[in-house]
Amino acid sequence: MQINQNNYFQITQQLQEKKVVLVAVSKTKPVEAIKELYDLGHRDFGENYVQELVEKAGLLPKDIRWHFIGHLQSNKVKQIVPFIYLIHGIDSLKLLQEVNKQAGRFNRVLRVLLQVHIAEEETKFGFDKKELHAVFSAGALQSLNHVEVAGLMGMASFTDDMARIRKEFQVLKSLFERYRLPPDVPYQLQVLSMGMSSDYHIALEKGTTMVRIGSLLFGERSKTA
Ligand SMILES: *Cc1c(COP(=O)(O)O)cnc(C)c1O
Repeated sequence: MQINQNNYFQITQQLQEKKVVLVAVSKTKPVEAIKELYDLGHRDFGENYVQELVEKAGLLPKDIRWHFIGHLQSNKVKQIVPFIYLIHGIDSLKLLQEVNKQAGRFNRVLRVLLQVHIAEEETKFGFDKKELHAVFSAGALQSLNHVEVAGLMGMASFTDDMARIRKEFQVLKSLFERYRLPPDVPYQLQVLSMGMSSDYHIALEKGTTMVRIGSLLFGERSKTA
C-alpha cells in the first residue's frame, strides 16, 4: 500500500459536500501509487515535470485526466498538448500564445488556468494584478481560438502564518469573482485552483473549486523533489 487511503476518503468526503475537485499530485511518486488511487476510482492527477508526466501517461490508463501544475517552459508545450486535460500554471501571455499555437496543430481547444502571483516570495511564478487585468481587458484573448481560459490558480506563501495564507487566498478569490462573469468576452471562469496539503482547509473556507493535494495522499516527498 503506497497511498494513505484514510486521508483519501476523508478528504474526498470533505470536498464532496462543496463539489470541490481533488487533483491528486503524484510528482516523484511511482506509477504503482497512482494505480492504487486509480483503482479506487480516482481520475484527476497532477504532475509538475514534462518528462515525468509523459512517461507516466504512457504507462497508465488513457481515461486519466492529467493536470499540469508545474512551471511550463514554452519549448516543452508540444509534448503535453496531445493529451493534457488542464494546464494550471500559465504565467505569461507568451506561454499562452505558444499553447494556443500548439493546440491548433492538434486541432484542440485546450483548457488552461492563469497563475496569479499571490505569495510574498519572489520565487513563485504568475501574473500580478496589473498583468492579469491587461490580459482580460486588452482583447488579448479574442484571437486565441485554441485555448479556453477556464480559471485562475495560485499558491500561498510557504508559511505557518494562517492569517497570511487566508489573506492571500482571499486576494485570489476576489480576482476570480471580479473576472468571473464579465459581459461579451470569450471566456468564462469556472475553476479556482487553490489549496495544497498544508492549506487546503483555508482554501475551502475561501471558496476554492479545485485543490491540489500530494503529500497527504502519497506521503512526503524527498526534500530535493
Ligand atoms: C507539489 C505541488 C502541490 C502539492 O503539494 P503537497 O504539499 O504535497 O500537497 C500542489 N500544487 C503545486 C503547484 C505543487 O507544485
